[in-house]
Amino acid sequence: MTPQREDTAAAPVLRVAVPTPVHGAFDYLPPREGPLPPPGTRVRVPFGRRSLVGVVLEHTRGSALPGHRLRAVTQVLDTQPLLPPALLGLLTWAAEYYRHPVGEAVCAALPALLRQGRPAVARGPTLYRPAPEAAAALDTLGRAPAQHRLLQRLLQSPQGLTAEALRGPEGRDLRHPLAALRDKGLVIPEHPPCLPPPGAPPQTPPELNPAQEAAVQALEQALGRGYSCHLLEGVTGSGKTEVYLRIIRATLAAGRQALVLVPEIALTPQLLERFRRRLDTRIAVLHSGLADAERHCAWLCARDGTAGVIIGTRSAVFVPWRHPGIILVDEEHDPSLKQQEGFRYHARDLAVLRGHREGVPVLLGSATPALETLANADRGQYAHLRLPDRAGGARAPRLRLLDVRRQFMDEGLSEGLLGRMEHHLEAGGQVLLFLNRRGFAPAVLCHACGWVAECPRCDARLTWHAGPGRLRCHHCGHETPVPARCPQCGGPLSPRGQGTERIQQALARHFPQYSAVRIDRDSMRRKGALEAAFAQVRSGHHRILVGTQMLAKGHDFPDVTLAAILDADQGLFSPDFRAVERLAQTVIQVAGRAGRASRPGEVLIQTHQPEHPLLTMLLQSGYAAFARAALAERREAGLPPYAALALLRAEATDPEAPGAFLEAAQGHLQAHAPRDVQLWGPAPAPMERRAGRHRAQLLIHAPGRRPLQAALAALPGLAHLPQARRVRWSIDVDPVDL
Ligand code: ADP
Ligand code: ZN
Ligand code: ZN
Repeated sequence: MTPQREDTAAAPVLRVAVPTPVHGAFDYLPPREGPLPPPGTRVRVPFGRRSLVGVVLEHTRGSALPGHRLRAVTQVLDTQPLLPPALLGLLTWAAEYYRHPVGEAVCAALPALLRQGRPAVARGPTLYRPAPEAAAALDTLGRAPAQHRLLQRLLQSPQGLTAEALRGPEGRDLRHPLAALRDKGLVIPEHPPCLPPPGAPPQTPPELNPAQEAAVQALEQALGRGYSCHLLEGVTGSGKTEVYLRIIRATLAAGRQALVLVPEIALTPQLLERFRRRLDTRIAVLHSGLADAERHCAWLCARDGTAGVIIGTRSAVFVPWRHPGIILVDEEHDPSLKQQEGFRYHARDLAVLRGHREGVPVLLGSATPALETLANADRGQYAHLRLPDRAGGARAPRLRLLDVRRQFMDEGLSEGLLGRMEHHLEAGGQVLLFLNRRGFAPAVLCHACGWVAECPRCDARLTWHAGPGRLRCHHCGHETPVPARCPQCGGPLSPRGQGTERIQQALARHFPQYSAVRIDRDSMRRKGALEAAFAQVRSGHHRILVGTQMLAKGHDFPDVTLAAILDADQGLFSPDFRAVERLAQTVIQVAGRAGRASRPGEVLIQTHQPEHPLLTMLLQSGYAAFARAALAERREAGLPPYAALALLRAEATDPEAPGAFLEAAQGHLQAHAPRDVQLWGPAPAPMERRAGRHRAQLLIHAPGRRPLQAALAALPGLAHLPQARRVRWSIDVDPVDL
């Protein structure tokens, strides 16, 4: 360290995001030579005894640290900033808002290879092309037969060949003739992007119906005019994806990029397939299932503008782009858009914020918009576009509640439902049964003494998986073989309640002539299993589909004419205030699977609560009316979107520790929070014991986001509480699961 630097208060200091769980960024001196690396540039820095790759956040003058303690950046890794200022701003804002260490948030936004310090290049192998004058020059190469042969081959492939293709199966060494031709200017090396170019020319689109036309027009008008946010509400099959395709085409035509967020990796292949058929651009795909090299390529092609479209799950909301155009969020109501651990951000909320910061329009699409989103539309914050009818002439299905009180039930299938199934199957239709539970049975019970198989590490019952003959805990993964007899009294054991596996067995009894397929996380574990099963459904091989959430989302089953929700009551008795909203969304999503083609569909909902006001409202008047009523209840109860929440969670092996910590936390927060912020709890978590740890939570309730953030400003103080040392704690701002 030079003494001059120590003395001048004006010496520039770099504030660097470093991947560590410590809050705040770290100060470093610039490298000894060369220009100052601008914000967004990766740098290698000494950190303790390690050397880490960090990202420059800003330049400052002076530091809280005394000059002699500042260390210098050891290496600048990029010649250009990797993260543009707008994105850096979004990341630092989000880290602050969701109370996550900024270094981790910023570094996690980079793909693994860049995090490790690899160069930021996304080029495929070099392509060699003949120069325009090559054909005329061929005759001059009579005395260089190797060059002559090579050029002749290249002239037959004007689109270019890689060195590997040129070498051929014999593997001839072409380095010398290739270099000679290059020196003569007869061969031009090119460095194409690693992302493949589009294949076949795009298909012609269908003619839009008037509602689609109106939506596309509104969006086209918003393009290039700065930020605006639009909600596209349309039932499944109403042609939302068609609207996406049109607005993306307009975006590409304007030389801009489109960023498309989807809640689940399982939804990307279908959407991708459709985009590929219709869009004449490179498409970058980003989700957790990619190999490091693929992710590296997709990310950099998004960043340098090579990819016209970027499709990704949650974390794609942090992908840089060169020509910001439009941000789309499909299935915006889906809770999987919220990250549930670590950096607990909501990708939809950040997408809207990003659009705002970067001055581009945002489109949120759903058949069942989140109540938060509808409230924003009602307040005029978002333009509300609607597609009221199914596209292509398909009719909406008829929804009906099936009162199962006092009905004979066989494995959760009521007589009424079995009758309707028979009717649809005989008429040649397919039947979809939806249940929110995997496994054979949610519990195993001794009828003689009442013993129930429980997880030794959680407050939960073990689920019987008949296939492998094991009891599994769905919360911690604990597994044991199914005991032959009751361990308490030696009596016989019997399954209780329904899981997908057990229903599949019952179906084999009732409808042996029809093939039934089970679609859940257990049966579809193998790679490619889901696609194979869906292909067999579409070919008509399977006539009955039994499944969980995986079935309800986005997939298209044109021959399903009857869809049933086997147990709606689960959603009506949850302590989570969002459970009813989720149930309504599931009902509409499942209904969206039925009768998509020309066949009319029927949807049945089995319940013991046929008079439940919100449920009947949903069936009689539809999702919009349900949402109005549900929002009124939320307002009455002072719940989001009419309030803002954060959940402070604590866990420990010691049963007393979480409560003791949360009580101390409550005192600390209360002392610093605005007066209208309330602290509810501490209370045991919905599942008090999980994987051997005791869990409790404290709900922070504020009348809005501003007072909530004011209260959260006191969080760093919790680390100094003596009780904090005995627990693991975390904060979840805007939680979606209570
Ligand atoms: P969503 O995304 O709302 O579920 P899609 O865009 O997938 O709806 O449309 C549902 C089906 O209707 C698709 O098969 C699609 O090709 C077709 N479709 C969409 N718009 C039209 C249209 N204007 N004319 C004819 N068919 C259409
Ligand atoms: Zn017993
Ligand atoms: Zn468990």
